[in-house]
Amino acid sequence: MKIVRFTYKDLAPRYGWVDQDLVGPIEGDPFCDYRRYDPEYPLAAVRLLPPCEPSKVICVGRNYIAHAKEHAVDVPEIPLLFLKPPSAVIAAGEAILIPPQSNNVEHEAELAIVIGKPGRWIEPEHALDHVFGYTIGNDVTARDLQRRDNQWTRGKGFDTFCPLGPWIETDLYPTDLLITCHVDDELRQMGSTHDMVFTVEQLVAFASSFMTLLPGDVILTGTPAGVGPLFPGNTVSIHIDGIGSLTNPVRASRQGGAPERG
Ligand code: MN
Repeated sequence: MKIVRFTYKDLAPRYGWVDQDLVGPIEGDPFCDYRRYDPEYPLAAVRLLPPCEPSKVICVGRNYIAHAKEHAVDVPEIPLLFLKPPSAVIAAGEAILIPPQSNNVEHEAELAIVIGKPGRWIEPEHALDHVFGYTIGNDVTARDLQRRDNQWTRGKGFDTFCPLGPWIETDLYPTDLLITCHVDDELRQMGSTHDMVFTVEQLVAFASSFMTLLPGDVILTGTPAGVGPLFPGNTVSIHIDGIGSLTNPVRASRQGGAPERG
């Protein structure tokens, strides 16, 4: 089932489910007890919101050998985790804003795990019991700031740097999903989740070994090779088989002064 968050006309934000080209409302908590109602809103007419409201977005660095190679770094022996702030999350269709501080913002197409059941010290063999479903994430990165700062909070954490969506697919087995990323008409990234160094089960287990995972939390599982620059006017579209497409336009941020140098 495809779970969305949406608004429609004067409706307050709510969860829903997608049935072909219609959206039906959900009453209650989709992570717990809920009731589905008949689809009534045209999918093309609703405004999609980020499909969940994570307390944290956990990201995995260098989880594909080919991507580590393109940056001339080794694959880590244990998962290399970092966080994006929830304020970076935007929905499908919302604009990625290029900040004035960066001259090199890049896309990173990633499978996103959505946690459904809270947990700490989750064993790998029980990890999928804690997964609600999967969506698509774009780990947008100011590569120049990531390198200059030596840690990644700023380069990965700008507002709009975490597009998520368009929905959560709850019936999906994540072991061999094709991921592609187009910028305008150009194919930039193509890979399979089969090539992830650490599996979904291992990532859920590892993250939960030091922090409690909560319903709606997101784990971005790393990007295949082929990351590249984004410029105002581009449209970036990530497709994952079995989920759908996450498409976002790119614009220049209107806020801020002259770019920082040095
Ligand atoms: Mn990434």
